[in-house]
Amino acid sequence: MENALHTRDRVGVQDYVLLEDFRNEKAFVENLRKRFKENHIYTYIGSVLVSVNPYRDLGIYRKEFIEQYRNVNFFELPPHIFAIADTAYRLMHEECRDQCILISGESGAGKTEASKKILHYLAAASYHAKQVEHVKEKLLNSNPVLEAFGNAKTNRNDNSSRFGKYMDIEFNFLGAPLGGHILNYLLEKSRVAHQNNGERNFHIFYQLVMGADDSTLQRLLLRRDPEFYYYLNQGNSTRVNGIDDAAQFQIVKSALSVIDFTEEEINALFAVVASVLHLGNVGFTEDDGRAVIAQEKSVYSVCKLLGCPEDMLNDALTHRTIEVCGDSVVSPLNRDQAIRARDAIAKAVYERQFKWLVQKLNASLENKDDAGKKTLMGLLDIYGFEIFKNNSFEQFCINYCNEKLQQLFIELTLKSEQEEYRKEGIEWEPVEYFNNKIICDLIEEQHKGIISILDEECLRPGDATDMTFLDKLETVVGSHQHFLSHKIADKRTKKTLCRNEFRLRHYAGDVTYRVEGFLEKNNDLLYRDLKKTMTKTSNLITRTSFPESELLSKKRPDTAATQFKRSLSQLMLILMSKEPWYVRCIKPNDRKQSAVFDDMIVLHQVKYLGLMENLRVRRAGFAYRRPYEVFLKRYKCLCPKTWPSYQGSAKEGVQVLVNHLGYIPDAYRMGKTKLFIRLPQTLFEIEDSFQNKK
Ligand code: ADP
Ligand code: MG
Repeated sequence: MENALHTRDRVGVQDYVLLEDFRNEKAFVENLRKRFKENHIYTYIGSVLVSVNPYRDLGIYRKEFIEQYRNVNFFELPPHIFAIADTAYRLMHEECRDQCILISGESGAGKTEASKKILHYLAAASYHAKQVEHVKEKLLNSNPVLEAFGNAKTNRNDNSSRFGKYMDIEFNFLGAPLGGHILNYLLEKSRVAHQNNGERNFHIFYQLVMGADDSTLQRLLLRRDPEFYYYLNQGNSTRVNGIDDAAQFQIVKSALSVIDFTEEEINALFAVVASVLHLGNVGFTEDDGRAVIAQEKSVYSVCKLLGCPEDMLNDALTHRTIEVCGDSVVSPLNRDQAIRARDAIAKAVYERQFKWLVQKLNASLENKDDAGKKTLMGLLDIYGFEIFKNNSFEQFCINYCNEKLQQLFIELTLKSEQEEYRKEGIEWEPVEYFNNKIICDLIEEQHKGIISILDEECLRPGDATDMTFLDKLETVVGSHQHFLSHKIADKRTKKTLCRNEFRLRHYAGDVTYRVEGFLEKNNDLLYRDLKKTMTKTSNLITRTSFPESELLSKKRPDTAATQFKRSLSQLMLILMSKEPWYVRCIKPNDRKQSAVFDDMIVLHQVKYLGLMENLRVRRAGFAYRRPYEVFLKRYKCLCPKTWPSYQGSAKEGVQVLVNHLGYIPDAYRMGKTKLFIRLPQTLFEIEDSFQNKK
C-alpha cells in the first residue's frame, strides 16, 4: 500500500501539485507511467482525479476498499475513485449541498466503468434500510438495460457507450437514496443501419437473437443466426471473444423486471428490436426507375410485429407523398431513395424506442415520496473529444459538447479556487488562462454561429447543399481566428485542407470536418408516409412514440444541432447549480491491452483533457493546503514546543511549528482554517524530516 500522505520517487507523486517541474508535459506523463507500472492507476491534481485504464482487474474495488475509504478525509488515503465518491457523498449529506461528478475522457478510457464504481460505492456506503434497498436495486439495474440498448462494440471499446448520460440520484436527510432521473444525449442512431468493419450494432440485437428461447424467437419470426441480418452482419464481427450475448440477455431480462417493466412492455420492446432487424432485410430492386420490394416476407414480419397494414408499409417504403398547394401528389422512389427511407425509419424507430425506454426507467426511478429536504448527486458520463481520420457532423456535435464542458470546468475551477482563498481570507492572485468561450460562441452564437448558419441552409428552399453551407461559413465566420477552410487558408495550410472541409481550432487541438452529410444529418428527415404508417401501429412503443399530433403539426421540428444545443445548455445549468468533482480518464494504449503504456497516446489525452492548464491554475497560488488540525497532527513531532501536544489552538500550534522550521513569510499563508504552502519543495523537506524522525 502507498504511503498515506505524500509519496514520491518510485511511485511518483500522488498529487500533481507536488510535481516540481509542473509546466513540463513530459514530466507529467512520466509520473503517470511510473505509477501505472506499480498499479497505481489514480493520481490527483488537487481534488481532480486522473485515472488510467488498467484493462485488467486490480482487485481495488472490493468490499474492504469500500470500507477503507468510508468517512476518511480526502487526502489521507491514496487517490481512488472511492475517495471522490465518499467526499462528494459526505458533503452532500452533511452540508446539504448538491454535488455532481463529471467523468470525461476518450472512448475506452474507463468513463463508464468509473461511473459504475461510483454508483456501487454510493449504494454500498449510503444509509441502509429495508425501504431503500429496492431503490438501490433499481438504480443498479438501470445500467445493464441502458447498456444493452445504448452500447456497442467499436474498434476502440468492446462496450462503447453510444450516447451521453447524466443521472441524478436523489437522497433524503438520512443520506438514503430515494430515486433517480436520467437524461440522455445524442444516441448514435446511424449505427442501427450501418457498422464499420470490426464493429457491431447495439448489443441488444445480438443478445435477443442469441439469448431468447426458441418460442420467443418463433413469435418474433427470427432465426438464431445474426449473420442472416443485414443490420448485423456488415461489420463482420457478430461474435466477439469475451462477450457472451446469450448470458447477457438473461441479465437484461431480469433487470427489466426489477425496474418494473410489465410482461406486455417487455414483449413490445423485443418486438420493436426484432422489427428493426426485419426492416434491414427488406431489399429493393429497381424497375424503370421505381423501387420494388424484393423481400415481401420481411415487410410482412415488420407489420405482424408492430401491427400495421402491410400495403401501407409497402407503399410508404417505395413512395412519397408531397403536398403541393393543398393537393397531395404521390411519386415513386427509386432504389437508392427507398433504401434511404428504409434506413431512416429503422433509425427513427430505434431512437424513439430508446427515448421511451429512458422515460420508463425514469418513471420507475421516480421518487414518489415528496416530503422532506432532498439533495442530489449527479453523475455525468459523456463522450470525450473525438478526432478521427474523417470527422463529420457527429464529431462536430461531440466536440462542441466538450468545448462547453471545458468552459464549465475553467469557470468552476477558477471560481472555486477564488472562493477558497476568499473564505480563508487570503489575497487572490489572478491566473492567466485560455478561455475557450470564444470557440463556444463561434459554434453556438445566435444568427452568426456555425449552428445557426447550418440551420439557415437546412431551411432554405431550393439549391442548398453541403457546399453552399461551407460557402456561407466562409462568408460569415471566415475571419474568425479559430476557423479555417481551403479558400481562406494561406498557401502552406491550403495543402492540408480539401475543398470540402473546414477546420476548427478547438481548445484541445485542430479538427478538420468534412461537410458531406451535414445538411442531411441536421435535417434528420423522415418521410411523412413512413411516420404516418408508424402512427397506425398497435405496438405500444411505436404507437406512443409516433403520435398523430406530430402529423398535424405544421411547425417544422427543430434540427438535430439545435436540439442538441438546447439540451446542452440545460445540462450546463444543471451542472452549474452543483458542486463539481472531476474524474479525467485516460487510456494507456490503443489496443485495449493491460500493462502497455504508450507515452505519445497518453500525452495526447493529457493535452485534450486540458490537464496541464488545470495544474497550472491549481499551482498558481499555493500548491498545498491542509486544515491546521491535520497538519499539526502529522508534524508536531518536529518541534519540541508542539510535541507531544500543544496547549493552544491548532492554528497557533502550526504558527509555532512553522516559526521553528524557519519558513520565510512568502513560503506560506495562514488562512482561517488552513495552512497554505506555496511550493511543494517546502513540503517535501518537512515530510523528509518527518520520515527520518519516525
Ligand atoms: P469508456 O466508457 O470511457 O468508453 P469503459 O468504461 O467502457 O470506457 O472501459 C472500457 C473497458 O476498459 C472496460 O470494458 C473494461 O474492460 C476496461 N476498464 C475500464 N476501467 C477499468 C478499471 N478501472 N479497471 C479494470 N478495467 C477497466
Ligand atoms: Mg462509456
